[in-house]
Amino acid sequence: MTGAIQVSKPDVLAVAKLHPFYQKHLETAYTVHDRTHVTDPGAFAELAPRIVGVAGTGEASVPASLLSQLPNAKVVSVFGVGYDGVDVTAAIAHGIPVTHTPDVLTDDVADLAMGLVLSVGRNIAQADQFVRAGQWPNGPMALGRKVSGARMGIVGMGRIGKAIAQRASAFGMSIAYTARSAKADLAYTFYANATALAAEVDFLVAITPGGAGTRHMINAEVLKALGPRGFFINVARGSVADEEALVAALQNGTIAGAGLDVFADEPKVPEALWGMRNVVLTPHMASATTETRQAMADLAFANMQAGTTGQPLRTPVPECAALGL
Ligand code: NAP
Repeated sequence: MTGAIQVSKPDVLAVAKLHPFYQKHLETAYTVHDRTHVTDPGAFAELAPRIVGVAGTGEASVPASLLSQLPNAKVVSVFGVGYDGVDVTAAIAHGIPVTHTPDVLTDDVADLAMGLVLSVGRNIAQADQFVRAGQWPNGPMALGRKVSGARMGIVGMGRIGKAIAQRASAFGMSIAYTARSAKADLAYTFYANATALAAEVDFLVAITPGGAGTRHMINAEVLKALGPRGFFINVARGSVADEEALVAALQNGTIAGAGLDVFADEPKVPEALWGMRNVVLTPHMASATTETRQAMADLAFANMQAGTTGQPLRTPVPECAALGL
């Protein structure tokens, strides 16, 4: 009797619910264990030595305690450009490089940032509700805030910050920014910190990484500097803004309004924001188009394959690239 020899696929651990495009790619080459370390620690203890790769998302937690249980892991491949949930220092110490998906999502995130700027400035979401609620015959809506020609301040002038600046320039907006360092190749005005920047702009857009270095960078002082005619847009990470201070600033009229794609404890959104007419809320969807999610899945999968087969990684995170990992 003859029969096909079953060759088992290498094992990878998914530390978060993966996007279906990434999951589908992985399943062509690997056996994917969905959060087994959390759902079945007993089975995980047996499985852990066989894990060759870890698949994650932007904020999914990959702590040192998990990495130390994976003696044969060769890569952590994150689906997302941000990787604040991964303990990169511990990964490097274990010789496990970390990869992410930069560039392929830059346009989408910049597009959504501008969408939120337009939406909060011109009351687009409120106008939609106004029409649907049959209020149009009863009188005009309140006037909006002109976006073209306004002053844009960008907190974080990396890949996405620059793409937002390009789009804002096309709207005739003036551009200023803050980052860890001034960029000699950019003609935009640099401010040393977010407070100084906020005082000079109409729309303040946060687009830095999350993590300890940027935690609560947008605080009560920054919001006060932005002022009662200023709008805050967050497409970075919820942790970048002090959410309590932000809610208070919106309630008190310290700032005019906000467009928020990210929150401190997703998917929970402070109930205080739900009924506010001066905010637009989106569910962390800045890169959520079919085209971009496919490109992210392709890149995350390419990194997983490269890592687990000893090929050069496509897009290691900067800390790993600097070490030649
Ligand atoms: P990037 O090219 O690495 O740019 C990051 C920028 O943030 C750089 O200009 C950097 O300053 C600045 N920065 C970092 N730490 C800072 C600090 N402590 N203080 C001030 N500025 C700081 O990254 P990117 O590709 O533009 O992505 C940026 C972030 O966007 C991601 O990390 C992620 O958190 C977020 N994101 C969100 C979504 C979403 O769905 N909402 C989607 C994609 C990305 P220097 O240039 O001086 O180093």
